[in-house]
Amino acid sequence: MGHEVIRGSSVGVIGGSIAGCATAIALSRLGCEVTVLERSSTGLKDRGSGIAIPIALRDDLIDAGYLPSDYAVWPATARRWLVADGSTDGDHRWTQPGPMVTNNWGELWRALRSNLPPTVRYCEGAEVVGLEESADGIVITTSAGVNHRFDVVVGADGYRSVARTHLHPESSPTYAGYVLWRGNFPSDRLVDRSIWDAVVASGEWLSVGFEGGHGVMYPIPDFGAEQGGDLRVNWAIYASRPEALEIDGPSSIAPGAVSDACDAAFRTLLDESMPPAVREVFDSPHEELSIQPIYDELVDTYVRGRVVLAGDAATLSRPHTGSGATKAIQDARLLEELGRSHTTWAPLLAAYDEDRTAEGRRLVDLGRRIGRDQVEHTPPWAEMTPDDFQAWTAGTLSGDTLYFWSDEAEGE
Ligand SMILES: Cc1cc2nc3c(=O)[nH]c(=O)nc-3n(C[C@H](O)[C@H](O)[C@H](O)COP(=O)(O)OP(=O)(O)OC[C@H]3O[C@@H](n4cnc5c(N)ncnc54)[C@H](O)[C@@H]3O)c2cc1C
Repeated sequence: MGHEVIRGSSVGVIGGSIAGCATAIALSRLGCEVTVLERSSTGLKDRGSGIAIPIALRDDLIDAGYLPSDYAVWPATARRWLVADGSTDGDHRWTQPGPMVTNNWGELWRALRSNLPPTVRYCEGAEVVGLEESADGIVITTSAGVNHRFDVVVGADGYRSVARTHLHPESSPTYAGYVLWRGNFPSDRLVDRSIWDAVVASGEWLSVGFEGGHGVMYPIPDFGAEQGGDLRVNWAIYASRPEALEIDGPSSIAPGAVSDACDAAFRTLLDESMPPAVREVFDSPHEELSIQPIYDELVDTYVRGRVVLAGDAATLSRPHTGSGATKAIQDARLLEELGRSHTTWAPLLAAYDEDRTAEGRRLVDLGRRIGRDQVEHTPPWAEMTPDDFQAWTAGTLSGDTLYFWSDEAEGE
């Protein structure tokens, strides 16, 4: 497909989540005829919880028209590290500069989805089950037996991508050996609001270190909230696998599906690791609790023939890096940027592949180092001074950077 012109090409995007919507906006702006095939038939907006993105990326997305100017986020300036020391509020050990904005996953998806240009066809309930390439195109088949022919296909179909399997049949995700407990709920449910109010007033999100893991909590805008409106409590705890949980792949145990035995293990974890007042902002009821086994996956190329990977379909990094949505959107933004200096697919895809493959490797490596230092081999948090924390995080970064681990806080 070396000399095929980008403008006027037909592009099929498999998956209509964050990467799929952002890619569809990008490619339609380059003059492609874009069709999104999304497996879900009920929409994605009510699922999901909190995600963080860099402030600069939020600004870029608003400036570029991907997000509306009144798009709601919660701005954070720093991260407050606590440990349980027998006191009600815990011991505040370190404040780490860390500017970022937090998002409600469903609202981020809804904003991108509603900014799809009218020329983009977004087909719900369209599960792709097969891809077949030929010299002049690629045919993708849905579970309903419908065939669609495209010039190029973008696999934006997440961590169990059929497009990645097509490109890399030998690749499989690697289990990290631990899990992420997650929950989120409206903040007006809190009875003791002391910790929550301090977080909201300071703009400093929480991390609580304990032996064998840590918890994080940050506010996110509520569903339908305007800028500066209602907030939800969003928390996550990295810890070893509860004995009662059998791990058989990266799929999360959804709210409502967590067993009684796992719920009991979670309550014990809260009792043992969280200062009493802090426990309140991690305490979701059983039916709202979810568990995500932590996996990562890396491939050595994002592009082959007429198939391009984006988002989690391309690289799955551990959530520590806060990069799932960020990388997915950056993948799309780079496609758009490269399309402004290339008129044919081959050089665009070669440049995209080189850039994004390297970024995927960087993020997977960084996620592994953070997992090692903050879950697998936790430090003696309670004995650490701010200088120790600084040196410890510098060791984890190992010369790399992460947008919410900055040396100096930016103003929001
Ligand atoms: C419903 C949902 C809720 C999420 N909630 C959170 C969250 O709260 N916090 C967080 O950090 N991350 C969350 N994520 C993951 C996060 O969106 C991704 O890590 C990141 O944003 C990259 O997105 P992605 O579009 O590459 O992948 P994903 O968001 O996983 O999207 C992949 C999309 O492809 C679709 N799909 C998969 N297979 C097929 C197929 N064969 N045919 C057609 N469509 C297919 C899926 O239905 C999905 O919509 C969530 C993902 C989903 C789908």
